[in-house]
Amino acid sequence: MNSQRRQRCSIALCVVLAFSFLIGCKSKGAEASAAPFMSTVASAPPQATEDAPSPDKTGGFDGSRAFAHVAKQVSFGPHPSGSPAIVKVQEYLLSELKSYGCAVETDAFSTDSPVGRIPMKNIVVKIPGAKPEIILLGTHYDTKKMENFVGADDGGSSTAVMLELARLLCPQHGRYAVWIAFLDGEEAVQNWSETDGRYGSRQMAARLAASGDLKKIRAFLLADIVGGRTAQFPRESSSTPALIDLVWNTAASLGYSSLFLNDASSAEDDHDSFMKRGVPAVDVIGDFVHNGYWHTPQDALDKISPKTLAIVGHVFIESIKQLQTK
Ligand SMILES: [Zn+2]
Repeated sequence: MNSQRRQRCSIALCVVLAFSFLIGCKSKGAEASAAPFMSTVASAPPQATEDAPSPDKTGGFDGSRAFAHVAKQVSFGPHPSGSPAIVKVQEYLLSELKSYGCAVETDAFSTDSPVGRIPMKNIVVKIPGAKPEIILLGTHYDTKKMENFVGADDGGSSTAVMLELARLLCPQHGRYAVWIAFLDGEEAVQNWSETDGRYGSRQMAARLAASGDLKKIRAFLLADIVGGRTAQFPRESSSTPALIDLVWNTAASLGYSSLFLNDASSAEDDHDSFMKRGVPAVDVIGDFVHNGYWHTPQDALDKISPKTLAIVGHVFIESIKQLQTK
């Protein structure tokens, strides 16, 4: 996965390479030709096929709880931005976060898209710190607009991790504030571009720039596609080098080098919206190019591992602790 760009392939190239997963060219045609041997899992029960590690081994992070959050999101069905189903997801997120005692702010906005105006909502947990600076965590919770696409890994997994982190972090107050952003509209409505996709993060970064809060953000740690049973995390090479080192060194120190690889790859994602405005950021994103189900209806609950969710959660908890000492 070298310098492969998310959702960026010419149709001609994809036709030529339609039978090869390895080049990571993911047009709809390539997905259709790659997927027939996979079974569908529409009737899979919301139970994990493997156990989560005991939370005391993963910094208190409960992989079983995180898995249940993925199952719940999947149970709402496809939930692209502006759909009735995403309103149910928003209600679920808000009710969970409030049950943890988190202070939550929402930003409901509407945005132009290639198919007209779409209502969206960013949901942000704000945990105060002793100093005004902020450690920002983030996920997107919308799913790609595609028939039978529930986004268990792409949308569901990182949102589950952030819910479980909120449960652990909301009662704690550190040196710096911790904000957790549940972003709408990461996925493109039609074709990924500077103006189609990353709607929620562009909105949040612009608002924070206007309010003056943007310059208080010391680091943005983004998660996306972090729950796969066979997940691997190459270093996302467009991220801020010092933050890549911090997260991957933390993962290595916890014994997770078999998941957090030294290989590099590149992904366009919600961190771009903040990096463009000078905020240091890192994207922890699974190798979606090679997972075999990215942006297909096979991105379902059977692909999700509570153990992977717990490992990623543990890495985030320890990375946040590191950032709180700096
Ligand atoms: Zn996606």
